[in-house]
Amino acid sequence: MLRSSTALGWAAAFLAPALISSLDALSNRPSYQLAGFLYLLAVSLAAYLGGFAAGLVATVLATLGLDYFFTPPRHDFVPASTDQAAGVALFFVVAILISQLFGRRRQVQRQAEAASARANRLQAVTARLAEAVTPQQVLDAIVTEGVEAAEARAGAIGLVTADGQMIEIVAQRGYERNLFVGWESFPLASDTPMGKAIRDESPFFFSTSAERDAAFSTMSTLGGPSHALAILPLVVEGRAIGAIAFTFPTEIEFDAERRALKATLAQQAAQAIDRVRLYEAERALRQRMTFLADASELLGSSLDYEATLAQLARLAVPEMATWCSVDMVGPDRSIQRLAVAHEDPERAAWAERLGEEYPPDPDQPMGVPNVIRTMTAEFVPEITDELLVEAAQGDERLLEIVRELGLRSAITVPLIARGRALGALSLIRDDSAPRYTELDLDLASELARRAASAVDNAGLYREAERRGDASRALAHVDDGVVLLDEEGAVVSINPAAARILAVDEATVVGETAVGSIGGWSEIEDNARPERGGTRGPVTLPLVLSNGNERWISVSGVDFGDGAVYALRDVTEERLLERTRSDFVATASHELRTPLAAVLGAVKTLRREDVSFDPDQREMLMDMIDREAERLSGIVGQILLTGQLDAGRLRLEHERFDPVALTKSVVDSAELHLPTGIELRVQAEKDVPAVAGDENQLRQVISNLVDNAIKYSPQGGDVELRLNRNGQFARIEVADSGLGIPRDEHDRIFEKFYRLDPALTRGVNGTGLGLYISKELVERMNGRISVDSEPGRGSTFVVEVPLAI
Ligand code: ADP
Repeated sequence: MLRSSTALGWAAAFLAPALISSLDALSNRPSYQLAGFLYLLAVSLAAYLGGFAAGLVATVLATLGLDYFFTPPRHDFVPASTDQAAGVALFFVVAILISQLFGRRRQVQRQAEAASARANRLQAVTARLAEAVTPQQVLDAIVTEGVEAAEARAGAIGLVTADGQMIEIVAQRGYERNLFVGWESFPLASDTPMGKAIRDESPFFFSTSAERDAAFSTMSTLGGPSHALAILPLVVEGRAIGAIAFTFPTEIEFDAERRALKATLAQQAAQAIDRVRLYEAERALRQRMTFLADASELLGSSLDYEATLAQLARLAVPEMATWCSVDMVGPDRSIQRLAVAHEDPERAAWAERLGEEYPPDPDQPMGVPNVIRTMTAEFVPEITDELLVEAAQGDERLLEIVRELGLRSAITVPLIARGRALGALSLIRDDSAPRYTELDLDLASELARRAASAVDNAGLYREAERRGDASRALAHVDDGVVLLDEEGAVVSINPAAARILAVDEATVVGETAVGSIGGWSEIEDNARPERGGTRGPVTLPLVLSNGNERWISVSGVDFGDGAVYALRDVTEERLLERTRSDFVATASHELRTPLAAVLGAVKTLRREDVSFDPDQREMLMDMIDREAERLSGIVGQILLTGQLDAGRLRLEHERFDPVALTKSVVDSAELHLPTGIELRVQAEKDVPAVAGDENQLRQVISNLVDNAIKYSPQGGDVELRLNRNGQFARIEVADSGLGIPRDEHDRIFEKFYRLDPALTRGVNGTGLGLYISKELVERMNGRISVDSEPGRGSTFVVEVPLAI
C-alpha cells in the first residue's frame, strides 16, 4: 500500500505542477495569487503521497511554473520587480516547509504501518503457533508465516534429547531433500552453529555461507549456494531446549530490527515447542494410562492366560508397537512363541511362520532368549544396520528380511513372577512410528509386570483348583496319603492317614514326620524311596503315637521336591491272615486227632491175633462213635461257616419253646459228660415261645454248652438259666471255668479267633463255634454277648425275640 502511494506521489510531483502550469493557456487564466495557491496544493498532494522527495520535486517544478507562467512579466523567469522575486522566493520556502511537513507525516505513517504489519505477522505466527500440536506444526507456522517476516527460505528445528547429549532435528521445511541425511541427530558438543547456539544460549547471524563456513569448518560441506543463515537458541525458563535455524535465499545484512524480529520469533517458537512438548507428554501419559487400564482389564478378565496374552499383543498394536510378540518358557525350558500381532493380520501370520522357521536359540546373546535368561529388559532405542547384521548371524536371507521390515526401535521385557522368568514381551516399531523412549520402556516394564502376575495367578489358580480337586479326592479316600517336602516335613496329610497314624492333621503339618508321627522312623527306615524312585509296598508293625500297635502297609514315591507315601492299615487283614493260617494248623490238628483215634480203634478191632472181650469191643466202638461225631462236628462247623459267608444259609422262621429246646440240648450233653462237670437248667416259669430257626438255635446252645464244658478243665458247674427280658427270651450259659480277658470279649466272636493257647490250657477247637453262634443269633434278630473274667468263669447270654 505504501509502495503504490509512493508511485502516486511521484506522479503527482510531476503532473500536478504541470497541470496547473497548463492553466496558463486558458484565456481566463488564474491570477498570480490563485495560481500560487494551486501550486501549493499540488506540492502538498505530491508530498502527502510521495513524501519529502516528491514534495521537493513538486516544489521546484511549482516554483519554476509560478515564476515562468504567472509572475509578471509572464513567460520569463526573471521577475519584474524585487517584490515579485521575493514573492517567488517566499512561495519556494513555504512549499519546502509544506513538503517537509507532509513528508514527515508520511514517514511517521509509514513507520506506523510497517510496525503494524510486523505486529500483524507476529500475531499471525502466534495464532498459528497456538494451534500447533507437533514440532512440525510449530516449524510450519514459523516458516510459512514467520519466515515471511523473517524473509527466510527454509527453516529447521533441532531439540536437545532427554539425556542432554544430542541434538535431534525434529522438523524442517524448505530444504532440499537430502540435506539432513546423516544429520538427523548430532552431538550437542559438536562444532555446529546449533550446538554452539544452544550451549551458549546466544544466536548466530551469518550474512553469507562463507562467513558460516569460516566460523564452523564442519559445516562447509553442508548446504548449497551462498546464503545467509540465522541460528537462534530456543530458550524456555532460562534453559536452551534447542535451536531454530533460518536459511535465506540471498545474502542479508542482519540489522538490529531484523535480529530483534528473529529473536521474537525464536522466543515464540520456544514457548510453542515447550507447550507442544507438555501437550505431547500429557497426551502420551493419558494414552499410556488408558492403555494400561485397558490392558489390566483384559488381563484380569480371564484365567485363560494364553488367549489373554494374545489379546494383549493385539491391544499393543498399533499404538504401542508396530509389532508385538509374546514368548513363553515351556515346561522343558524351551522358548515358544505364544502370539505375534501386527496391524495387518497377514503380516502377523507371516511373522509367525518366520518364527517357526527361525526358532529362538536359548543361548542367543540378545533378544528374547537373553532377556529370559538374564531376566533384564533389552532396550534398543535405535536399531542400527550393524545390529541387524549381528542379529542375522550371517544368514543373508534373514538379514534381507529384517532390513526390509524397516525396524527402527525395540523393547523386550521379561515376564517375571516370583523370581522366575515366565517369558518375554517384545515391542518393535518401524519407520512409521517414533523411536521408543525411556518412558515407553517404563510402560512396557509395567505392562510386563502386570501380565506376568496375571499369568502367574492363572497358574496358581489352576494349581489350586487341581490341588483342591486332589485334596477333595484325598479327603474321601480310605487310603492314607502323606506328602513330605524335601526336608521330610509334612506338607499335607489326608484324614485317612491321620486316622491310620492316630495323629491330628493340624499338629503334624509343617513338622517333620519323624518328629511328629509315632512310628514314622520305622517307615523312614524301611519304606523311604530313593530320589526320584518308588519303594514298597512293605508291611510294617508300627507303634503309633497313641501307643497302639498296628500293621501298616506303606509305599513311597519320591518326586524330587519331596515324597508321597500311601498308607493302609492292614492290621485286620494281617490278623485274619494269621488266624486263618492258625486255623489251617488247628483244623488239621483237630481233624487229625479224632481221625487217628477212629483209625486206631478200627485197626485194633480188625486185629486177628487179638481176641477182644465184648466190653473192650464196646469201648472201642464207643470211641469210634465219639470221635466220628467230633469229626462230623468239625466238618459241619466248617461247612456252616462256608454257607454263612456265602449267604447261602436259609433260616426257618418258626415258633418254638426255648425251654424245651434248652432241656433237650442238656439231655444230649449229659450223655457224654466228662467227670467233674455238673449240668443244670433253671428256667423261669412261663417263658414264652420264641420265633426263629429251632435247629440253628439248638446248634448255638449246644456250642455254648460244649465250650462251657471244654473251658472248665478242672470241672465245675455249668448252669443254663432261662427267663424273659422284655420282648426277648434270655438264655444264659454260665460256667466257672477259665474265663476270658475283658479286651478279648469282642474278638472271640470273630471267625477263627481263638484265645492264646496259654489261656486255654491247650483245649482244642477251630475258633468257629462262637462266630457261627453270633451269625445265627443275629440272623434270628437276636443278640449274643459275654460277661467273663479270667479265673472267674464265663456267662454267655443269648437273647431271641419272642413269637408274637
Ligand atoms: P473253639 O472251637 O476254639 O472253642 P469258639 O469260637 O467256640 O472256638 O470259641 C472261641 C474262643 O473263645 C475259644 O478258643 C476260647 O478261647 C474262648 N472261649 C469260648 N467259650 C469259652 C468259655 N466258656 N470259657 C472260656 N473261654 C471260652
